Amino acid sequence: MTQALSTDVLIVGGGVAGLWLNARLRRKGFSTILVESATLGGGQSVKSQGIIHGGAKYALHGALTGASEAIADMPRRWREALAGNGELDLSGVRLLSDAHYLWSPGSLAGNITSFFASKAVRGRVDQVKGDQLPPALQNPRFKGKVYRLAELVLDVPSLIRRLSELAADGLLAGQSIEPLLEGDKLVGLHIDGQPIRAQRIVLSAGRGNAELLSRLGLNQPAQQLRPLHMVLVKSPNLKPLYAHCLGGGPKPRITVTTHPAADGQWVWYLGGDLAEADGVARDPQQQIAAAQKELGDLLPWVDLSTAQWATLRVDRAEPAQSGLVRPDNAFLHEDDALLVGWPTKLALAPDFADRVLAAFERDGVQPQQHPALPDLPRPTVTTPVWEELF
Ligand code: FAD
Repeated sequence: MTQALSTDVLIVGGGVAGLWLNARLRRKGFSTILVESATLGGGQSVKSQGIIHGGAKYALHGALTGASEAIADMPRRWREALAGNGELDLSGVRLLSDAHYLWSPGSLAGNITSFFASKAVRGRVDQVKGDQLPPALQNPRFKGKVYRLAELVLDVPSLIRRLSELAADGLLAGQSIEPLLEGDKLVGLHIDGQPIRAQRIVLSAGRGNAELLSRLGLNQPAQQLRPLHMVLVKSPNLKPLYAHCLGGGPKPRITVTTHPAADGQWVWYLGGDLAEADGVARDPQQQIAAAQKELGDLLPWVDLSTAQWATLRVDRAEPAQSGLVRPDNAFLHEDDALLVGWPTKLALAPDFADRVLAAFERDGVQPQQHPALPDLPRPTVTTPVWEELF
């Protein structure tokens, strides 16, 4: 029989949630093994827009209730980590933009009035004009109003690379996962037949959590998937833009982030309302046509005649909740030695780790001595989605 490996914490899923938690645990002296069945970051994480929200967007529909929401503190915590003096040393991770912008293309609509009246936003938003405008909006034909939010935008591939470095020898490529039981007590997992014992097992496998739970014979917590149909545009004529464009409704009409391709061109990644229900119902060609119309209406001075277009279907995985209200905190469910959760946002990975650490502290889970790990088959870091599509 294969000799069991042992570790303090066995993490399943190498997206931002698992990798961030792993790095924090290691920094606190815990031994960890993180199992990834595909590529690190290749689930939702690298397909995200990389915005480190402080919650301002949610004030648009009154969902942000104020200081109790973990999200309000996220930009500060990420900034400190990026500067190398926070809870993790993320120095070297590329910051794409020091701010995210809110952009109202026409006159102030009703929703934006209540937005500025909201307590969550007061004092955190400044109007910008002229040469302070994002480069893509610096055009004499631009008529709207632009507000700067104290939120960051990160290059997620460089974040995933850095978090993988912080994982040192603890990463394991593994496909098949079965429970390791003592009696009816879960004491670890079999990964591709290799038993690994752990004090605690954390499932942070994004949409993979549902299948893992059913493999462990559990049906709680329930998961929901929220489909999106994103659009990508690549052209030598693009300039950086990181902004939510406000429409009449509570959700941004379009959210644009800009990502560096390896050939030096910029790629615009378009989400927001464009990528939600109606966008999901469109086929890729219709979705590209809808995006071309939006950009033509909003930014008519941008020459997109030679642009390359692609769409990406991706689901956000979250805990099931009534009314599809978006949580502004990470979610963690506990079942003895098993913890399972979703950060619900990339920005909330630190909050996810906080919740796991709080559970360990409450239960007196401490680092223990373990034999050194053998060389483990290591998962690779994912390729950026814009390199795969163009
Ligand atoms: P994932 O990144 O999905 O990682 C899960 C990992 O688990 C994957 O690598 C997967 O391969 C692995 N896995 C699955 N099953 C198994 C298994 N059985 N065994 C081993 N490994 C397994 N959030 C923000 O804060 N800002 C944004 O701008 C933003 N934009 C977004 C845009 C889009 C289009 C989408 C889809 C999401 C966006 N999000 C954003 C949300 C954010 O991406 C997610 O909340 C976050 O990345 C989830 O991280 P995760 O680690 O839980 O999941």
